[in-house]
Amino acid sequence: NTAKHDRTRIELWDPARPSPHTVDLAIQTELRDAVHQGHLVLHYQPLVDAHTRQIVSFEALVRWAHPQRGLLYPGAFLAQAERSDIIHALTERVLAEATAQAAAWHRSGWPVPVAVNLAAPVLTSDQFVDSIAGHLHRTGLPPTALIVEITESAVMTRPEESAQRLKSLQDSGVRIAMDDFGTGYTSLALLTKLPLDELKLDRTFIMRVHDRQEQVIVDAVARMANGLGLTLVAEGVEDEATARTLAGFGIDLLQGFHFSRPLPAADFTPLSGLTRV
Ligand code: C2E
Ligand code: MG
Ligand code: MG
Ligand code: MG
Repeated sequence: NTAKHDRTRIELWDPARPSPHTVDLAIQTELRDAVHQGHLVLHYQPLVDAHTRQIVSFEALVRWAHPQRGLLYPGAFLAQAERSDIIHALTERVLAEATAQAAAWHRSGWPVPVAVNLAAPVLTSDQFVDSIAGHLHRTGLPPTALIVEITESAVMTRPEESAQRLKSLQDSGVRIAMDDFGTGYTSLALLTKLPLDELKLDRTFIMRVHDRQEQVIVDAVARMANGLGLTLVAEGVEDEATARTLAGFGIDLLQGFHFSRPLPAADFTPLSGLTRV
């Protein structure tokens, strides 16, 4: 069927095929129910010190435990959540669960910080700062043990407003990380305008770090982060050679399948250190 790939073709109404709008609504209804029925689960991926290889923090990553389709990754449902108001309920569940888990690790004598991803619609709502304060209060987790990850594109929707809210969050002790750094188009301008503690260099740079050209970029970003007093993280580290190269460039923290895939919290204990590597 070549017509399928011809973008100039005029779509004819086919009554047998559900319209994209109907499909959206069906998925959104199912997702909304899943959020409220507690079918979302969090997996945690460690960030390790580039030199000691000890776990320094975790990133919480959402999954949908679908009763028929199995474990679904964010790529399969997050866009639908962001296109509707579901993203707010989803984020509430993630914040509740991640702060409770971090508080449990704290009580067990392991004060390890946990990072949560915040999407654009959440950053532009005026509730997220209060909501985060509520979760910290309820769980007793110190604000310094929570990190929020934002992206350039999420902030760009309303930069001044986002910066203001993030500043009040940071003033309370919560740390702010810029995720997927280097993939947006305003990176450098945003760096001095936003309250930031951490930069996470996108996986696309890490994948090609054995390339001389790519090394020039990574080296420059490492110097810049250092000069700005930001912790620099490399995302998507998949092998030892890459880990060593990155450590050599002065990258502070490493995250990737080489150290651990995202896993249920129960798979990690203070003693897990990173003996699995
Ligand atoms: P992200 O925040 O950049 O998270 C890193 C993604 O890279 C995760 O995918 C992780 O599993 C994957 N990853 C980690 N190490 C490696 C590696 O060595 N190689 C490769 N190929 N991939 C690696 P995941 O869990 O599928 O999440 C995808 C994205 O979904 C996240 O990207 C984040 O933007 C979003 N996301 C995840 N959880 C949440 C959430 O609770 N709320 C919101 N708003 N977004 C979330
Ligand atoms: Mg992230
Ligand atoms: Mg990332
Ligand atoms: Mg990424």
